[in-house]
Amino acid sequence: MSSTFDSTASARFDTLLVANRGEIACRVMRTARRMGLRTVAVYSDADEGARHVREADEAIRLGPAAARESYLDVARVIAAAERSGAGAIHPGYGFLSENGDFVRACVEAGIIFVGPPAASIAAMGDKSAAKARMMDAGVPLVPGYHGNDQDDALLRREADAIGYPVLLKASAGGGGKGMRVVEDGDAFQAALDGCRRESRASFNDDRMLIEKYLTQPRHVEVQVFCDSHGNGVYLFERDCSVQRRHQKVLEEAPAPGMSDALRSEMGEAAVRAAKEIGYVGAGTVEFLLDVDGSFYFMEMNTRLQVEHPVTEMITGQDLVEWQLRVAMGESLPLAQDELTIDGHSFEARLYAEDADNDFLPATGRLSRFALDLVGADLDADRVRLDSGVESGDSVSMHYDPMLAKLIVHGADRASALATLNRALAALDVQGVVTNRGFLQRLATHPAFQAADLDTRFIERHGDSLFADRRADRDSLASAALIALHQLARESESDSPWDRHDGFRLNGPRSIRISLCDPRDAQSPEPESLAVVEGTHRASDDAWQLSVRGADIDTAPLSATLTELPGDAVAITLDGHRRRLQARRDGNEIVLASPQGETRLYWRRIDAIDHGQRETESTLTAPMHGTVVALLVEPGQPVEKGSALMVMEAMKMEHTLSAPSDGQVASFPFSAGDTVGQGDVLVEFAPEGE
Ligand code: ADP
Repeated sequence: MSSTFDSTASARFDTLLVANRGEIACRVMRTARRMGLRTVAVYSDADEGARHVREADEAIRLGPAAARESYLDVARVIAAAERSGAGAIHPGYGFLSENGDFVRACVEAGIIFVGPPAASIAAMGDKSAAKARMMDAGVPLVPGYHGNDQDDALLRREADAIGYPVLLKASAGGGGKGMRVVEDGDAFQAALDGCRRESRASFNDDRMLIEKYLTQPRHVEVQVFCDSHGNGVYLFERDCSVQRRHQKVLEEAPAPGMSDALRSEMGEAAVRAAKEIGYVGAGTVEFLLDVDGSFYFMEMNTRLQVEHPVTEMITGQDLVEWQLRVAMGESLPLAQDELTIDGHSFEARLYAEDADNDFLPATGRLSRFALDLVGADLDADRVRLDSGVESGDSVSMHYDPMLAKLIVHGADRASALATLNRALAALDVQGVVTNRGFLQRLATHPAFQAADLDTRFIERHGDSLFADRRADRDSLASAALIALHQLARESESDSPWDRHDGFRLNGPRSIRISLCDPRDAQSPEPESLAVVEGTHRASDDAWQLSVRGADIDTAPLSATLTELPGDAVAITLDGHRRRLQARRDGNEIVLASPQGETRLYWRRIDAIDHGQRETESTLTAPMHGTVVALLVEPGQPVEKGSALMVMEAMKMEHTLSAPSDGQVASFPFSAGDTVGQGDVLVEFAPEGE
């Protein structure tokens, strides 16, 4: 697409303010810069040195870290636009992107809002009203009730008529709140009462709608685009069925198994939906696709979606460029028959969270954040990393924990998926826990490979996705070998070390390494997964390794390690050579391959000083947050695993439990206190007291 402007466009602007942060702010500014626009970022105190601020031509402070006083503050964002002379504001997603008051404030200030008119946002803001409009436009709806009469008995009769299970939804709802599945008539009243309470608390509104609950639907959404001259097109669909708590995790385009006929039927319905509400700009019409091929309107998102890059990958179009051109009053760059699908694309959302620990959000400093294309031998044209962070950046508790999106392209689904798995292994993130391993487990799952998708995918496959994945013999041996090499290298720099003499000069000929789970490493009694004894053979620079663990006891393995470009290493165990991405962060080793990730923490045990272990143990805060409740009294005996206290961080509650049997001596903080990462939250009484 050429980047020269249509000179007849009615609403040219040369400065764009991006009212957002993180990856989407960086991504929008990238296109704006390419189009020759001056870019203005806004930031809160927590983001003063953030990547989106560094990359913008100018940046204006909005206010304190709390979103309400910065990114969500309409008056401050408008004032920043006026101060910087911005002619237009791109809202990104989240924050003010679907806020009608903000759109009106832009119009009043004479600033172009890159998005739909306020009336279109309002038309889709209320689920019941939106359904009524969609019915008029001939867009298929899930069988259900979305009337104004909210009498309990009437709602019950409607639910009975629809047939159970039904789904109760708050009309004003969003984000999965005020939503409940009702299995039968007897459970209806209690569910209705619960939903109404939740909806009143969250949205100050307790109107409900009822839908037939589909038990195995797929989430398939259509990207639409309209200009201000009455043109509308669809840029095909995305399948976002893999969700956790209604949050999308992996997305792809096109939807697997979609026929051309169904694609155009859904696409045309989506464009009708957009035109019905006078839509302008980028929008997404979300549908549930049932097993029999019926599809039903769910809602319309009146903004650019997080997952828009998969559509860009298969269409070759830049959706942000389309948005900016439409905002300038230009016509859509392409007509429907000029749009085609090329290959297949996936997106994986990388979150700072511990998937194996109830998705506890993680914070900290990213000592390293990179994509090792060289080590993974990946083609840069097929891999895109949309990120809001770089090495050295901090991840705070204030905002959404999404760090980046990894997007890949392939000629077909299988090759795109293979690239996704290689690219996930090539991500090098250190200092902050991420869901990368979980993403790999999803993307390598046989059911995902077979495109056997529905919105309960994660729930259905929970056993295999969250199973205690014990490191296998080869991973344990590989991690130990890497540790042995590191020890050898460190010793080499000490002067008395003579490489050819092996370890003879510097202590025992054999070295013993104990391996444990890194999350267990700081506990008073880390559970050893295996002890590996390594003996160096100078003649061929190979190691003899014996691995002993709970269910492992190997005969000595012959092992060698070769460093490859990037982070890659080749490890040969008894004649089986494997290529891995290996990263070291202190004593933690992360082994990544397209098959998955293993994290191990090692200690040299033949030299360990047992006298150093603390007798008094403590529990420290895993992240910044607030203490919500203390669940036991000091002095009370507690069992390993029993709940001790609840803390809140990033609007979610997390229960901290006892690492071992013992007795709580004291809680240094009380309910309501703010705590920092690493603060001592629980002190245990020394053993024997
Ligand atoms: P919210 O606006 O709160 O996110 P949605 O109406 O968009 O709520 O629904 C969120 C998710 O709930 C959907 O992506 C889908 O997985 C599931 N869902 C919604 N309606 C139904 C239904 N009628 N049957 C089955 N699942 C549904």
